[in-house]
Amino acid sequence: MKTLHSDVVVVAAGPAGLAAAITAAENGKKTIVFEKMSTAGGAANMGMGLLGIDTHIQKRTFNDISVEEAFNLHMQYTHYRVDAELVQAYFSLSADTILWLEEMGVEFAGAFRYFRDSAATWHIVKPENGVIGPRAAGAMIKAMVSRAKELGVEIYYETPATDLIVRDGRVCGVKAVDAAGEQIEAHCKAVCVCTGGFGNNPEMIKEEFGLVQGKDFFSIQVPGVEGDGLRMMWKAGAQKYGLNVEVIQSVTLPEELRTLSIAMFQPNLLINQNGDRFMNEEYVSNGTFFANAIGLQPGRCIYSIFDGAIVRHYKKHGVDIVSLVHPDTHLEGFDSAAEQALQSGSDAFFAADTAEELAEKLGIAPEKLQDTLDEYNDMCACGVDSKFFKSHKYLRPITGRGKYYAGKIFFGAYGTLGGVRINKRCEVLDNENKSIPGLYSAGTDANTIYGDSYNFMLPGNTMGFAVNSGRLAGFAMSDYIDSLEEESI
Ligand SMILES: Cc1cc2nc3c(=O)[nH]c(=O)nc-3n(C[C@H](O)[C@H](O)[C@H](O)COP(=O)(O)OP(=O)(O)OC[C@H]3O[C@@H](n4cnc5c(N)ncnc54)[C@H](O)[C@@H]3O)c2cc1C
Repeated sequence: MKTLHSDVVVVAAGPAGLAAAITAAENGKKTIVFEKMSTAGGAANMGMGLLGIDTHIQKRTFNDISVEEAFNLHMQYTHYRVDAELVQAYFSLSADTILWLEEMGVEFAGAFRYFRDSAATWHIVKPENGVIGPRAAGAMIKAMVSRAKELGVEIYYETPATDLIVRDGRVCGVKAVDAAGEQIEAHCKAVCVCTGGFGNNPEMIKEEFGLVQGKDFFSIQVPGVEGDGLRMMWKAGAQKYGLNVEVIQSVTLPEELRTLSIAMFQPNLLINQNGDRFMNEEYVSNGTFFANAIGLQPGRCIYSIFDGAIVRHYKKHGVDIVSLVHPDTHLEGFDSAAEQALQSGSDAFFAADTAEELAEKLGIAPEKLQDTLDEYNDMCACGVDSKFFKSHKYLRPITGRGKYYAGKIFFGAYGTLGGVRINKRCEVLDNENKSIPGLYSAGTDANTIYGDSYNFMLPGNTMGFAVNSGRLAGFAMSDYIDSLEEESI
């Protein structure tokens, strides 16, 4: 067995763990990081950018939102069911965090909205290849790892932490196993656990939420993110708190047929398995609202219904909802992608010459689908959605000109949220809401600031929380260690 000594041990090198480790090291604390995988970054390697409020980047484009505005928006969104002090600490630090990242070499492409009604808080990292899109934030992780190394932080890869060491009620170390199977005990004064939740642990997801991966739930599964840190913290007395899922709509079509999903994620007619319309479709741009509505439908899946005329409209004038994640505006290659999906016998994309044929393919009673289409088409003819009040500009009749199309959309997730309760210093609380000395948590494991639903109105919020709470934990651990040293003088 190997024994290590340090001031701080950080469990995991995702954005939260890296931010905690860099901050502790910047405050002169010897810091060790244990990372389960062979690379750093966790889920952030797949993401694009983080929240910043009242930043110099926003101000440059007159897109700034003040901390007061963001705070009030967020607290009203969550009905004050979340820790206002933690939210305040996070939002207030976020502009400085953007500068802090820039100082270590991170460049930002700008501050963006996720959809029209959201605020421009999403600070998208300028990717190495210059093209904004998925994985842009990988460049931020590289810069953070370099900064950590420059400060002397020791990162042990392929070395999962297995347990916390607790003595006299204080957390004072971490047990881990390296790639060769050797046991490690790292003794320290403060530990920060940031293992990213349990989005890649289907058993735990079933146990906590009753959702079955691949059946009524399609979470993105980030390797390594399996709830390890939460189990360790709960065992050490942490309060089990605020477990949730960061929902998003999901399709099972292969990535190369993405143009079909872009067509499906437009404000087309949406119906459930009973053939009923169930929401104002213009809200599909807000992934939280869209997925929440899908989650309430039978089987937690729905269909987006459109036709050849609507496809022609999108091809000529562009789609209604443009996504920065997949910025294809004119359904490039739709016909060949549709052909490919249909040839492969896809159970997620359908085409039919008549409404009756479409109903049969979807397993919906034909007369029910016809009723729903008639009702919808009448509203399109009047230009008024008297049921869910969708804007008239999206009311396009579905008559099957050039075929009826349907795409199946599922209830999915980026992963989980929450698990332990922290305060504004990221100290982990026990069941009496008292902090457990020496134990800190940041990022997804401790992210309980959205209440029941992720707040997409302020995009970049989870990565923003990860980096900012990591920094808050780094500051707090440094203060705690200083106070221990003062006590011992
Ligand atoms: C496809 C995708 C796109 C996204 N895009 C964005 C975006 O643009 N903006 C945004 O705000 N959010 C985005 N997110 C969410 C964002 O990436 C996460 O909120 C963020 O990465 C959470 O950071 P974290 O450090 O808490 O956890 P993670 O990034 O999940 O990292 C957790 C780390 O813990 C490690 N680990 C697990 N168990 C152990 C163990 N026992 N010992 C040691 N290490 C362990 C894992 O290997 C991993 O490296 C996206 C997520 C996904 C999946």
